[in-house]
Amino acid sequence: MAENSTHHPLLIIGSGPAGYTAAIYAARAGLNPVMYTGMQPGGQLTITTEVENYPGFPEGVQGPELMTFFQKQAERFGTQVNFGLATKVDFTGPIHKVWIDEEKLLTADAIIIATGASAKWLGIESEQRLNGFGVSACAVCDGFFFKGQTVAIVGAGDTAAEEASYLAKLCQKVYMIVRRGEFRASKAMQERVLNTPNIEILYNSETDEILGGKTVEAVRIKNNKTGEKREIPITGFFVAIGHKPNTDIFKGWLNMDETGYLTVKPGTSYTNIGGIFAAGDCADKNYRQAVTAAGSGCMAALDAERWLAAKGLH
Ligand code: NDP
Repeated sequence: MAENSTHHPLLIIGSGPAGYTAAIYAARAGLNPVMYTGMQPGGQLTITTEVENYPGFPEGVQGPELMTFFQKQAERFGTQVNFGLATKVDFTGPIHKVWIDEEKLLTADAIIIATGASAKWLGIESEQRLNGFGVSACAVCDGFFFKGQTVAIVGAGDTAAEEASYLAKLCQKVYMIVRRGEFRASKAMQERVLNTPNIEILYNSETDEILGGKTVEAVRIKNNKTGEKREIPITGFFVAIGHKPNTDIFKGWLNMDETGYLTVKPGTSYTNIGGIFAAGDCADKNYRQAVTAAGSGCMAALDAERWLAAKGLH
């Protein structure tokens, strides 16, 4: 064990649906899990409003409220929840080391990584101001609120194409704001978008400003070839310019794909290092849903419990 450190059998890094579900299972199994929440306790759901697709809530639930339920349930069984950001790791093993906020050293026999991913944003003021009031980074989560309305989506990758197609089924009209003269999305996804009559592609276009007082009322776009500006009335503005998994500190230790998503042994939460498990969006670029994250958090807790038992550590 390292000097001046606190040792825990199981450490959970991250406090979204994956982290808390792992905590609930691990705590009930008697593993006394210790969680460090990261900079955004509760994760991505805490920046959404109503969540209507999390099973068990027939009337829907507010994202922050749902995460409070997760936390209470994890604490009820003895999870120790601490605020703090994991800033460095050393997985030389067999005892794993994690530094919190660059100073506090923790050691653990097993670690569940549930650090999530963060949506990329355009970085304009109106996007932040109207976030949750017509601005969203998740069409699957929020598209329903714009049923029959006119919306815009920015991005030209597979996610944007997929979300534009999803929105087109719900909304009257979808404007797709593409910054270059072409898509990045795969041919098949492009074809799908181009063949959908209620999607209009605005090529060479940048978002100048999202307009609206309390909620989104329009978007002002700028043609980056001609400089011409134009206002388009919309009620929903979706950002789909990619996600970034929060896995930078694991580079060089854990296997990840070229975009930073942790790779796990298929059908499990096992990473390439014994005793380190991954769950939720940090290891999932495909589904990225609260319920899938929660499911994989459960898997990670069961994998960790069995791994600890097999090593005689539990
Ligand atoms: P990508 O990184 O592939 O695409 C991001 C898109 O956003 C690009 O078109 C990019 O434009 C645009 N963009 C980035 N920044 C800005 C900005 N500031 N303003 C305007 N536009 C911007 O991310 P995705 O989330 O689409 O995909 C991530 C990965 O997941 C990819 O490998 C993708 O193939 C995969 N994926 C696969 C799916 C499937 O197979 N069903 C579904 C969803 C994702 P530009 O092109 O000009 O760089």
